Amino acid sequence: MSQNYVFPPAPQASVPVHGSGQRYAVARIFCVGRNYAAHAREMGADPEREPPFYFHKTPAALVESGATAPYPPGTQNLHYEMELVIAIGQPAFRVTPEQALACVWGYACGLDMTRRDLQNTAKQAGRPWSFGKDFENAAVISALRPASQIGHPAAGRIHLAVNGQVRQDSDLKEMIWRVPEVVANLSHYYHLRPGDLIYTGTPEGVGAVQPGDRLSGGIDGVGEIALTIGPAD
Ligand code: MN
Repeated sequence: MSQNYVFPPAPQASVPVHGSGQRYAVARIFCVGRNYAAHAREMGADPEREPPFYFHKTPAALVESGATAPYPPGTQNLHYEMELVIAIGQPAFRVTPEQALACVWGYACGLDMTRRDLQNTAKQAGRPWSFGKDFENAAVISALRPASQIGHPAAGRIHLAVNGQVRQDSDLKEMIWRVPEVVANLSHYYHLRPGDLIYTGTPEGVGAVQPGDRLSGGIDGVGEIALTIGPAD
């Protein structure tokens, strides 16, 4: 029975599951702010003493790997951030790190695209990061792979190239807060549930891209991701 909506609702945001016809329906997108010490230092922060912090992207920001995304409006400094993405598969509320992995359905490669100039202006003014982080095509994601097939990656190369030149090249074991700790920590603030994605932060080597640039990256055991920057919107 159809509802009496004023206009048709937007389609459900979702991510393909690798090697199957299925899709993972997305509810919320959480992002860890700084999670690799060398990247925190390149952003001017002291990484060692800070507990994790988060920002959000809306599901409307999702775009699938392989797409061409227009250079977004309102920025002169669009950055890539290559990240491991966690997909929650079971409710998680106030779980311990030991309990956390049982709540993870799978993993993907992600690009946390960032309007760095807007983020930096917001940071300096003590304002929210939303305009710098949450915009159309800002949450790039590869197909998900279930943990039942690939396990829970705690180590492995994470890398990103721009036009074939490697810019980010690190290892998941360099994460300050590991996957079980991120899920456990976030579960003390939210009732995590299936459909929730968590971008886990980026290693050092972030930088600007221009229209026409081709981004390609990957995480050992998780998959690969690509994005082409189109002409300015
Ligand atoms: Mn990030």
